[in-house]
Amino acid sequence: MSVVPLKFRPTSDGLLLFADDAGGYFKSDHDFLRRYALGHLNPLDLRFLHANGHAFDEVTDLAYAGFEHRFASRLYSPTELDYVILVPTLRCNLACGYCQVSRVNENTTGFDWDERTIEAVLHFLDKLSAKKIKVEFQGGEPLLRLDAITRVRDFCRARFDASEFVICTNLQEVSAEAWALLEQPDVFTSTSLDGNPATHQVQRTITADKTAAFFENVATAVKRLGPGKISALPTINVSRPPEPQSVIDAFLAYDIRSIYLRPVNYQGFARKRFDARASASRWNHYYSSFIDALVEFNWSSDESIEEYYFVHCLRRVLRSGHNGHADLRNPNIVGHGYLVIDYDGRLYPTDEARMVTRVGQFDLSMGDVFTGLSREPIDTLNAEALNNFHPDCVHCPYQAFCGVDLIDDLSRYGRIDLPKHLTDFCQRHTYIFDKIFSMIYSADPKVQKTLAIWSGAPRFDASLAKVHQ
Ligand code: SF4
Repeated sequence: MSVVPLKFRPTSDGLLLFADDAGGYFKSDHDFLRRYALGHLNPLDLRFLHANGHAFDEVTDLAYAGFEHRFASRLYSPTELDYVILVPTLRCNLACGYCQVSRVNENTTGFDWDERTIEAVLHFLDKLSAKKIKVEFQGGEPLLRLDAITRVRDFCRARFDASEFVICTNLQEVSAEAWALLEQPDVFTSTSLDGNPATHQVQRTITADKTAAFFENVATAVKRLGPGKISALPTINVSRPPEPQSVIDAFLAYDIRSIYLRPVNYQGFARKRFDARASASRWNHYYSSFIDALVEFNWSSDESIEEYYFVHCLRRVLRSGHNGHADLRNPNIVGHGYLVIDYDGRLYPTDEARMVTRVGQFDLSMGDVFTGLSREPIDTLNAEALNNFHPDCVHCPYQAFCGVDLIDDLSRYGRIDLPKHLTDFCQRHTYIFDKIFSMIYSADPKVQKTLAIWSGAPRFDASLAKVHQ
């Protein structure tokens, strides 16, 4: 009998977590590791490994075909281009401290789509082969260009079988026309809500008047649009993070039950001031306490609350096919399924690539809407965008659930070949997967209740926590 390669990692209970390339996992002890490493597996070991899809008799048998199928279904395959992020203006009516490279003052000229650019964007969209389209408007503050949004929306509604629009707005100033747009059934609103008013004011709105106007608009948005049509994301400053409960309370006040926590995303040169190891470990500590606070809340509440990215990672552990998040895919092929069109008509594979180019680190643009799409430089990067052969990842039990983010590596370190464990990406994801497995193997009913809710199961299934004695 042949055993598929197993990667392993010690866990805090003295055992080891083993996982294969297809994402099958179990726990066992150091004696099993010794027998596995020395080729001295006993009949009980082999029976367990075969029953759980880690061993097969020959490459033609069903067990091997099953393993190969599970392995293949873990891989991301880009779809046709059916998702565009549009930046009709870089102008903004706020000046959040960590957004300096991607916005200009509201009255600055030269940072908007002009008529020629709008025409070229519509022409670009018209040439897409997709039948459905998702359009996300970013900025700057996109509501400053209601005219451009409306033209794109009208065009897409007429051109595609189905279209959906997301407006990423700071909800600072919303005119009657803007509310009417946001109320349309195919329009969704995404905003930033950093926590309670004090936190939000320090990080974003600065003055009490602006803070009051923002919170009034959030309340209006929830009332007029309904909580299902608005998503709000808190940005956390790890140097002075708010208490997890205060963030949870701020979201519950508006009945928003999915929180997507993000650390301040220092871009470009600012990143060099932040040591990845130090900032990742501070972030991990805060993130873990936030997850614990959610578990506590869910235990005594009829209606649960989740942290979006943690739930996404959990589902990637439990099932294949969860490739909906552009930051966590393997291979992470960029510039194919979705694109960013900047204020000047230039095309980028991701928003972060736009920032990297804007601060002059690397040119990661892919042509423009006037002369057409050029994928050549980005496809060179795509050739490296998988973790299956990376010398660190091949030894990591989380490889099948994890991904790669080469543009993040380029942005932070100016290179893509650092040992993975030195990167912010790896340090954050190692911690998340450690936390997920500590919860999967926890006997605490509070943890099990939340895990069941977050994994979409009626109750926690003990067979998820396999141990080979
Ligand atoms: S990036 Fe880190 S956590 Fe992810 S698979 Fe590679 S070694 Fe593991």
